[in-house]
Amino acid sequence: GPIPSVMWDLLRDRLDPALWEMLMTAAQLAEQRGWQIYLVGGSVRDLLLIDRYQGATPTEELLFDDIDLVVDGFHQAADQAAGVELAKAIQNFFPNAKLQVHGRFQTAALLWHEDEALGSLWVDIATARTEFYPYPAANPEVEASSIRQDLYRRDFTINALAVRLTTPHQGELLDYFGGILDLRESLIRVLHANSFIEDPTRIYRAVRFAVRLGFQLEPQTESYIHHAIASGIYAHIQSEMEHTPALQTRLRRELKLVLEASYWYRALRVLARLKALVCLHPNLEMTPGLWRQMRRAHRTLKHFDKANSLEHWQVLLELLIASLEPAERGKVAEGLQLPAESIDRLSHLHTTEAAIAQTLPTCDRPSQIVDGLSPYDAETLVLVGCRSDRALRRQLWQYLLHWSQQRPPLDGNDLKQLGYRPGKDFKTILETLRNATLDGQIATVEEAKALLQRQFPTN
Ligand code: ATP
Repeated sequence: GPIPSVMWDLLRDRLDPALWEMLMTAAQLAEQRGWQIYLVGGSVRDLLLIDRYQGATPTEELLFDDIDLVVDGFHQAADQAAGVELAKAIQNFFPNAKLQVHGRFQTAALLWHEDEALGSLWVDIATARTEFYPYPAANPEVEASSIRQDLYRRDFTINALAVRLTTPHQGELLDYFGGILDLRESLIRVLHANSFIEDPTRIYRAVRFAVRLGFQLEPQTESYIHHAIASGIYAHIQSEMEHTPALQTRLRRELKLVLEASYWYRALRVLARLKALVCLHPNLEMTPGLWRQMRRAHRTLKHFDKANSLEHWQVLLELLIASLEPAERGKVAEGLQLPAESIDRLSHLHTTEAAIAQTLPTCDRPSQIVDGLSPYDAETLVLVGCRSDRALRRQLWQYLLHWSQQRPPLDGNDLKQLGYRPGKDFKTILETLRNATLDGQIATVEEAKALLQRQFPTN
């Protein structure tokens, strides 16, 4: 039977019963095939943290949205697809779970539930990443070492913990690298000195976990970050990206995760202290001016949320990139594989800014400002607004928050009902109504009708 362990009790008590049942089924299915499965990564870390905080979670984010399983202990090349096979076998028992297979081998994912309130829960099932060992079956040393190798490729000690779900030694917590102690001491520690050179996105991950969990970067780990950055990480990333496009995707993903988090500002402060923004461009650094712009963007975006659905993190990232020389901006955005409109926006930002700075001061009436600004999307105007002086900024915010939203008291349908025929003049009439509304000449239906009678009588 299972050996009693703190971890086992935690799993049983804290996991949703249906999920627990699924994990137990998965363990049996793996055992039938002579495999081991482990719960690894973030869910183990978070379960131990929940235990430490006695349920009073330090962050809002301790609800799982994914759970990682690793399958291990197989001895034939065909079993490289063990993760996929196991996922299929689990799905046979739980037909409501949706199966997704990535690539030919290695990983499968089950969408365990998709819930409006709880969010969705993915169960990732990977095959232990290790070289193939052509040893005879049931060599326990090899088995132990392949899960160990899988864990050794992970980022931090606290993310390299695993719980064995299969017998023998069911419930055993594998802690090869001192993750438990680091969890207890609230430290983010890499597994080896080369970690950040091997994968620079780990710098962002280290900071994200540290800020989110209220942990410190372990001093040696921080010195590895300094070393990686001092050794010319930008050039390194650039040359890496040529062979591994996945690096771009991961870097963008980490930037997104940092910038959309509630703690983004504190995380950015740590990243700035580490000079980690040079991963994006050697000249990118936080200056007092850029900090001010970021705070403005945050405030403005919060205001705005109701009317527009801007990707806040993306606007913040664009603002960082916009601090670079005009010729560099588009290139950096492209390197990060930002969406086409984002690349476009940044490439044209200096022309846009010049045009707006020239037009706006010549506008007296709101309707003229609306004419001048309506060609630009809201993201562009937020960028320009955050970067410009007070007078210009006020006009842009007025436009974004009020004028661009304002509707005349009568619309096209009302005009038709009043006997106007859609046609060439129709647009002129609508524009006249819009301008009169913007400029405060009319506010009510009656005033609008009176204006129509004066300027466009229907007889
Ligand atoms: P979160 O709660 O933010 O989802 P997580 O630990 O689950 O945290 P993921 O990004 O989902 O984080 O990654 C899952 C696991 O994969 C991590 O716990 C870690 O073990 C490993 N991992 C992820 N990214 C890397 C990386 N860049 N280098 C090494 N290991 C990584």
